[in-house]
Amino acid sequence: MVVYKFGGASVKDANGIRNLASILRQTGGKTAVVISAFGKTTNALEKVLKAWMEGNNGYREYLKEIYEYHQSVAAGLSDEKNNLRKGIDRLFALLTEYLETKKGEDYDYEYDQVVSFGELWSTTLVADYLLSAGHSVEWVDIRNYLITDDRYRDADVLWSESASRIRSRFARSGKQIIVTQGFIGGTAIGTTTTLGREGSDYTAAILANILDAEKVVVWKDVPGFLNCDPKWLDGAVRLEEISYKEAVEMSFSGAKVIHPKTIKPLHNKNIPLYIKSFLDPLSEGTVVTSAPGDAYNIPVFIRKENQMLISVLPIDFSFVMGDNLSLVFHVFMVQGIKVNLVQASAVSINVCVDYEPQRIRNLIEELSKEYKVIYNEDVEIITVMRHTPEAVQKVISGREILLEQKTRRVVRFVVRKEPQN
Ligand code: ASP
Ligand code: MG
Repeated sequence: MVVYKFGGASVKDANGIRNLASILRQTGGKTAVVISAFGKTTNALEKVLKAWMEGNNGYREYLKEIYEYHQSVAAGLSDEKNNLRKGIDRLFALLTEYLETKKGEDYDYEYDQVVSFGELWSTTLVADYLLSAGHSVEWVDIRNYLITDDRYRDADVLWSESASRIRSRFARSGKQIIVTQGFIGGTAIGTTTTLGREGSDYTAAILANILDAEKVVVWKDVPGFLNCDPKWLDGAVRLEEISYKEAVEMSFSGAKVIHPKTIKPLHNKNIPLYIKSFLDPLSEGTVVTSAPGDAYNIPVFIRKENQMLISVLPIDFSFVMGDNLSLVFHVFMVQGIKVNLVQASAVSINVCVDYEPQRIRNLIEELSKEYKVIYNEDVEIITVMRHTPEAVQKVISGREILLEQKTRRVVRFVVRKEPQN
């Protein structure tokens, strides 16, 4: 069994789906194919949801645009024999009825009920197309097998329940290809959940772990892990092999190639992860394994934008260690804020987090009851792995450094965002 994952960019139009089919034609064995919503559909569904929750009937117009987009993809793949519009028509009707008859109250819950349709449409259309093109294929509704808790929008996988359901379902299939949804799951009682934005990579890793897959291939519009974002710096090179540890560090630090949660399930079973370009399927890509060769010593540069640096200081000058440390982080956890960098001294705790205005406001309000809180908006984190003095100079010269953290292999800077001109 191998697991393939195709992201939104790879299936944004009829040509992308034909390309997916041709990649599948080159594989012989059993393949689980995990697919995201087409193109930017998840963002578009978020807009529908927001309008609907606000009681704004403009949501219908947004939904119509999404419908027409999917219809045009289907039309681009249809011939006289197959009618690829029917499958997605049925699902659009379901969502339309839901939105017409229900009134949303719990945002996170409704998010999962509504936004999950992106993956249901994409997988239905792709599976129907593959079938019409003569593939041995089956569509699986992962919500019945990948079981999660009911923390909507950020659900946690219930591993043992999922493992037994997924194993028996996939073993039962006599088809060569199983097409299923990334990003979504279901509770044990059958309510739809989602795993967090960009969570389809994670789905692929979960399936691979549970099914003891030989490998996972994530098909991307980049040739693999690069040592920097080419939109940011010149001279990007592809990394042929990296370790699980480096892959986690890179994605946690802000490299957008794969979702940070993807690595753990693969590492635990020593399953290699390939990042390959769907535009050039025969090229090598990057392989992530436990023990890559030491061939690489080139520095890796990563930037994480839209950060905020928060400093928490005890009012009475008590040390921040021990109790204070655990109290402060408890507040971050309760507010659902992910911490990207921490530095603690005797009298302050400095924390870098994603800039999410609403959550941050609540956080600061909570923390201010016990502590003095100061913060800097508009900062970013720059990470250099396998650093050298020249490499560091390349990315931080001329920047205002607010904080620096250094180990032998990795150096991280919190810097003020460059002024736009
Ligand atoms: N469609 C979802 C998103 O855009 C999941 C994914 O693409 O991985 O966040
Ligand atoms: Mg996506």
